[in-house]
Amino acid sequence: MSKTMTIAIDGPAASGKSTLAKNLAEDLGYLYFDTGVMYRAITLVALERGIDVEDEEACTALAESVRIDIEPPSEERRLYDVLIDGDDKTWEIRESDVDANVSVVAACPGVRHALTRQQRRIGLSGDVVMVGRDIGTVVMPDADIKLYLDASVEERARRRFIDMLAQGEEVELEDVLASMRMRDQLDSGRDVAPLKPADDAIVLDSDKKSEEEVLEEVKRLVEENQVEPS
Ligand code: C5P
Repeated sequence: MSKTMTIAIDGPAASGKSTLAKNLAEDLGYLYFDTGVMYRAITLVALERGIDVEDEEACTALAESVRIDIEPPSEERRLYDVLIDGDDKTWEIRESDVDANVSVVAACPGVRHALTRQQRRIGLSGDVVMVGRDIGTVVMPDADIKLYLDASVEERARRRFIDMLAQGEEVELEDVLASMRMRDQLDSGRDVAPLKPADDAIVLDSDKKSEEEVLEEVKRLVEENQVEPS
């Protein structure tokens, strides 16, 4: 028997974290938990209700009251369904107005406090692959394996642009690139839980590697970490 494990995967937007985490979780029979979904959900609700995303008090109140459920996918093209107060908002949380505002909401200490608490509760149950920006540094600092998946901003913008076109969004590559640069800056520069690799994280660059190569590399790391209980 293998021991229970928590795997933390952090990194900037569109570095390939979600695909890696989903495949790894499937392979290991672990829960896949994408924490970015929670910040996106709060941002979407704020935009829908006309709440100023810079209003920390109002955004904190949302994070403390809105119910976010992540369920198995009801469509093949999805990794999971996201329900906000019971309504399916899986596509809406990926739209460009959410992309453009989510880092402002995520920089709010009250929002982070409320969401980190929920994330930690789920993470502590074990056998989970958790994805985000601060999993290895703040949410699960005792994770068994900490990975930081990176890629150049140009490559990440190109990937996100292709995804958005596939969803039928009308966007320009240069706007996606500008929005991603802005998000990187906000995520890395914020005071609370900034995006950065944990001191003991393994940093992988996905620019020059295929999804399969990254997955194989990580599976090897996991095998090395699995020990027989005494
Ligand atoms: O990973 P994804 O791009 O969906 O995350 C959306 C945003 O949520 C990030 O740009 C970041 O601002 C925020 N986030 C965060 N901490 C996490 C996960 C996401 O601040 N653990």
